[in-house]
Amino acid sequence: MVIVQLRYNYRVYPDAAQRTALSRAFGCARAVFNDALRLRLQAREAGVKYISDGDLSKLVITQAKATEERAWLNEVSAVVLQQALADLNTAYRNFFHSIIGKRQGRALSAPRFRSRKDNRQAIRFTKNARFKVCDNGRLGLPKIGDVPVRWSRTLPSEPTSVTVIKDAAGRYFASFVVQTTPDETLPSTDAEIGIDLGLTHFAVMSDGTKVTAPKFLRRTARKLKRLQQDLSRKTRGSNRRTKAATKVARAHARVADTRRDWQHKLSTAIIRDNQAVYVEDLCVVGLGRTRLAKSVHDAGWASFTRMLQYKAARYGRVFARVDRYYPSTRMCSDCRRTNNKMTLNVREWYCPCGSHHDRDINAAINIKAAGQADFNARGAHVRPTLVPAARKEAGTHPDVACSTRSVEGISIP
Ligand SMILES: [Zn+2]
Repeated sequence: MVIVQLRYNYRVYPDAAQRTALSRAFGCARAVFNDALRLRLQAREAGVKYISDGDLSKLVITQAKATEERAWLNEVSAVVLQQALADLNTAYRNFFHSIIGKRQGRALSAPRFRSRKDNRQAIRFTKNARFKVCDNGRLGLPKIGDVPVRWSRTLPSEPTSVTVIKDAAGRYFASFVVQTTPDETLPSTDAEIGIDLGLTHFAVMSDGTKVTAPKFLRRTARKLKRLQQDLSRKTRGSNRRTKAATKVARAHARVADTRRDWQHKLSTAIIRDNQAVYVEDLCVVGLGRTRLAKSVHDAGWASFTRMLQYKAARYGRVFARVDRYYPSTRMCSDCRRTNNKMTLNVREWYCPCGSHHDRDINAAINIKAAGQADFNARGAHVRPTLVPAARKEAGTHPDVACSTRSVEGISIP
């Protein structure tokens, strides 16, 4: 059975006492995380065995609480501490898998120490922590209190965890994880589509549709740049600097919000209109290092394909990535001949067979054909059993932007 994890974000408004309690909890979680990381690094330096997750928990939580130095760990929910440790263990596991090639994508670096000055502070409560949504609409957090929430939409079912986040702009968010099955299956359709994620257009579809790349980031880049220059001129540690930093963070958050809204609309429409969606498995990180970086990051393909993936799972559609070494651009979609490599400025071309091609539409048609062939070879009933949450669980990615509008659940009219 397909289980989909969805994340629902809401702005929360803790009062002064709750903000103090939260900052204490952020501090305790950080201390446990850093203590644990230090022990593992020391063990490695001393050439002794990797400390197991269980032993580590005893050392930095159970035993540490009994010491005078770390007695203050008793002031926060134990679950918060365990979850900080779980973040570290996940970071280590991902790092190891990345080294041995078990994990795809960009090579990951070893876990790093967390800092009080990180842009994003977060703690996570699981069901064990007995957090609750109160009758009065507040969010009850153990040892923090009942925090007011702006419920911009209703939660579809009981959440399995909640992460409380403070972002660089000083805003607080509650991010709930909700598990659901794809019971909202849409009426099936015969349409299938291939998508080429391009540089001149954000996306080009095999049916000939071209979607223009949003240039939100670049349009606001000048403003952002000015704000950043303001920031750099302020004296370190001054009040003015803090204010300028908040302005920069807010500008970033606004861009991220707008881009996410746009991507939600587009991905929802694609999933609604097609039974199967195939995209090229681009090495986005690889491209990101070239001079095309700005445009790639503007476009945000990675978050867009993640949306397609979880929406497909949620609504009973097929989503598949096509091998990125597949010559989708220079293969003729009519005669299947592989032609010579083309430079980026070639937008249309003639195949020796006589066909005339739009570079991107031809690529999208090839992606669709390759996706269909792959899928048929694997058998029509093969489907992934677990789709990752649309946004990463908090912890290992300290600079993920948070926003008031980043609700990952969708409703299809
Ligand atoms: Zn041809």
